[in-house]
Amino acid sequence: MRIGILGGTFDPPHKGHLALANAALKELCLDRLIFVPAFLPPLKQKIDLTPPADRFAMVRCAIREEPRFEVSDCELKRKGISYTVDTLRFFRKQYPEPAELFFITGGDWGKTLDQWKEIDVAFSLAHFVVAKRPGFKTDGLRPEVAFLDFVPLNISSTGVRDRLARCEMNVSEIPDSVLEYIRQHKLYHS
Ligand code: ATP
Repeated sequence: MRIGILGGTFDPPHKGHLALANAALKELCLDRLIFVPAFLPPLKQKIDLTPPADRFAMVRCAIREEPRFEVSDCELKRKGISYTVDTLRFFRKQYPEPAELFFITGGDWGKTLDQWKEIDVAFSLAHFVVAKRPGFKTDGLRPEVAFLDFVPLNISSTGVRDRLARCEMNVSEIPDSVLEYIRQHKLYHS
């Protein structure tokens, strides 16, 4: 079995995440891909995250049309700083060998890998796959890292949040189901 893991804050989830996840499904021949919303991302400066329950629910809305996509609350339940190595240990227990784990990340994270907690342990638990992302160079990465052939979309949660805060309610970068959830729960309004 081949399992993909896509971590992030998903604040909110957008079509860039889905494009990345779909490319990973196809290119890596995954049986399932698990979205893992972080409780507290280690290297992000943003501290005013949308509550975990809302981010989890929005991911659930975003992925509902693809049966091979799942969402896990393991980092939300664990609380504290969401280190990838701990998450990979958790999934390794759930999916022992010979299952293969693929940790997928966007190009903005590739250069930071050396700063991640116990990165060599993490490399021993999963294949690391980095996807291109506009504005980020992906040359000179560690040899353990593979590349995902992916046509990136220039979308970020930061851009989506800015537009929603300006009350632009027709934000095409997020799935309709997510926009509906945001409207119902009145999220991201300044
Ligand atoms: P923010 O703007 O709040 O920093 P984000 O758009 O980067 O958020 P995250 O939830 O942090 O979204 O991203 C989760 C994962 O998806 C990360 O590995 C990130 O690199 C990747 N990712 C997000 N958007 C894209 C995109 N447009 N193309 C490729 N990868 C992406």
